[in-house]
Amino acid sequence: MAAKNTKNKSKGKEDKSVSTCSDLQCPIHGSVKLRGRTLVGIVESDKMSKTVVVSWTRRFFVKKYERYEMRRSKINAHNPDCISAKKGDIVKIIETRPLSKTKHFSVVEIIGKESKKEHLKTEEIEVQEAIQEAKDTAREQKKAADKKDKE
Ligand SMILES: [Zn+2]
Repeated sequence: MAAKNTKNKSKGKEDKSVSTCSDLQCPIHGSVKLRGRTLVGIVESDKMSKTVVVSWTRRFFVKKYERYEMRRSKINAHNPDCISAKKGDIVKIIETRPLSKTKHFSVVEIIGKESKKEHLKTEEIEVQEAIQEAKDTAREQKKAADKKDKE
């Protein structure tokens, strides 16, 4: 009866009023300190409440083939209501104390949308091609040197 006027956690309208962020684990309004690594990645999933899955690609050198392969890293990050990152957003995440079993990062800001990803890809391919060319020429030189040794 008396609980008529108290604000219930109804999602939708309350999310937009940033000044009333009651999230204790929010890096801006809460009491959680940020320290450690800073990463930038793309939000892959926002299906969990106050949690997002952030992923990014990195180059891994394969020694046997003297080539790079793309590897993908995935990490869970806290997504406070005042930021509420959505799927496809490029976000900056900073390490915090462990917030749960699998969360030790928090979203700090939304940098942009996923469309930039294509530019990154083409750049990376160009870099890879350049490296391959350099390796090929090095190999040819090696072969030539080996032949000379045999003679
Ligand atoms: Zn907040």
